[in-house]
Amino acid sequence: MIRKDEGVVLKSARSGETSKLVTFLGRESGKTRLVAKGALGAKSAFRGMLEPGTHLEVVYYHKEGRTQYFLKEAHVHSALRTETYTITRLAATLAVLELLDHVCFWESPEPRIVNLLLEYLRCSTDNDPLFSFLVFQFNLLGVLGALPEFSSCALCGESLNDGFFHPAEGGSACRDHSESSSRRVWMDKELLSLIAKIGDSPVAELRKLTVGTELRKDLGAILHWTYTYHVNDYRLPDALKLIPKDKRATD
Ligand SMILES: [Zn+2]
Repeated sequence: MIRKDEGVVLKSARSGETSKLVTFLGRESGKTRLVAKGALGAKSAFRGMLEPGTHLEVVYYHKEGRTQYFLKEAHVHSALRTETYTITRLAATLAVLELLDHVCFWESPEPRIVNLLLEYLRCSTDNDPLFSFLVFQFNLLGVLGALPEFSSCALCGESLNDGFFHPAEGGSACRDHSESSSRRVWMDKELLSLIAKIGDSPVAELRKLTVGTELRKDLGAILHWTYTYHVNDYRLPDALKLIPKDKRATD
């Protein structure tokens, strides 16, 4: 059986002496593990092509009686220009790939996620990479149908001017209906207007913004809790640890 697809390398690891094991997010295949035999060899056609973030067209096959897929051909559409990235941008980009690796199910195609990822990777402007990561997290929740109702009270339905987000309930409540909790996040006007803006603006516009540290931390916290609520064993992507501590979105 031979299949063709297009998508992005989420991660790749050495496998044995000369091969690579590639986690690929394909438009039609979903998240798939591909064995690239001999990819580490000096003369391999795959050399340098299988780095995380590379947008590829692939041909792969399945051997009778085996559970693995083998990469036959690969053509690069585009690769990350990491030499132009700051450490923060590199970490945020790797965090996006790591997030998808964690969130996507094996062989469960969702072309809108591939589109979201390509839009993220192609956007050349990135004034605040950590905010861009949060925008990606927010939009991914939208695609997954898991975006909480941030802007109105879950109890009375009033639109929120001032209230709290409750991670355990995955929703917001106005000041009158919010029960005291150590984990609730105060949704002030600034945070509510930032969330409304993320919901309404194209990614290219959002990538021009720079957001204050406190505001970004609050947004990071509510997104983190939302992922924790929906995804088994969710944790903040390890790649974010590459960033100096004072620049991180959440600790
Ligand atoms: Zn209320």
